[in-house]
Amino acid sequence: MPTSVHGIHHVTAIAGDPQVNLDFYVGVLGLRLVKKSVNQDVPDTYHLFYADEAGTPGTDLTFFPWPALPPVTLGVGFAVEVPFTIPAGSLGYWQDRLAKRGVATRPVETRFGETVLPFSDPHGLALAFVESSAGLAITPWAKSNVPAEHQARGMHSVRLWERKLANTAVLLTRVMGFEKVGEEDGWHRYGVDGGGPGRWIDLKDQANAPQGEWGVGGVHHVAWRVNDPTEELLVRRALIDVGLQPTPPIDRFWFQSVYFREPGGCLFELATDGPGFDRDEDMARLGEKLVLAPWLEAQRPEIEKSLQPLTMPAKESAA
Ligand code: ZN
Repeated sequence: MPTSVHGIHHVTAIAGDPQVNLDFYVGVLGLRLVKKSVNQDVPDTYHLFYADEAGTPGTDLTFFPWPALPPVTLGVGFAVEVPFTIPAGSLGYWQDRLAKRGVATRPVETRFGETVLPFSDPHGLALAFVESSAGLAITPWAKSNVPAEHQARGMHSVRLWERKLANTAVLLTRVMGFEKVGEEDGWHRYGVDGGGPGRWIDLKDQANAPQGEWGVGGVHHVAWRVNDPTEELLVRRALIDVGLQPTPPIDRFWFQSVYFREPGGCLFELATDGPGFDRDEDMARLGEKLVLAPWLEAQRPEIEKSLQPLTMPAKESAA
């Protein structure tokens, strides 16, 4: 049976100071902090999850704040930009909003027929807004600083540099269910489940770039949606069959994960759509308190002591 993933589940990146990160993603971009937790492998580090109101898979950008790391080395085997979808007609709103808040943007581009506004977050992570009349079905966050009609519609795509994209393309098409849909300016676009915002990946050969290295302002990994643990095991088996080395399934409490390196070196993850972020918090109160996976609860006093307190950005008055 052919195996397939179903689009982007989440992207995890490395930030500097967590308060600066929170102020930008909640205060400026208007995303909801749906989970304030810790890195389950390094529990003295926050793990901050930003998404739509419901934490819908595909809307979720998460961060490990590691201010002591050097800046990212952008290179091959690396996701070099995280584009979000915004509704058609929202570009002007966002240009104005970002300019008023001192966020520098780069010139507007057209990519595969869509209008794109590239910019960066305060720690250098390359982002973009892509205007599209399609987009994920999200639940706009009612308490956002951004009106519902302009809120981001989840991740649009991920863009990877590769030493030899053909190797990654084989994985995408043979195991992960993608099909090639086009080429433009050296970018090769692949889509899964028919493609569309949230279901694209763009690859570009950069033969002379260095190997990418994790650092502040860089993507840590890209997670792909699978329906449930059964489907995750099928895809995992198919990864092993083509010679890759996925981890066993790991319980991340809000979803179940399998990690592997794609042939170019980028860390990929398979993540199940459920159980979801309301497994341990009321949907109305997501992200308000520090939430720990049950097996970390015994260490809560030490963990809380090791984390800097965070202040939620204020709700803006209408302007
Ligand atoms: Zn992840």
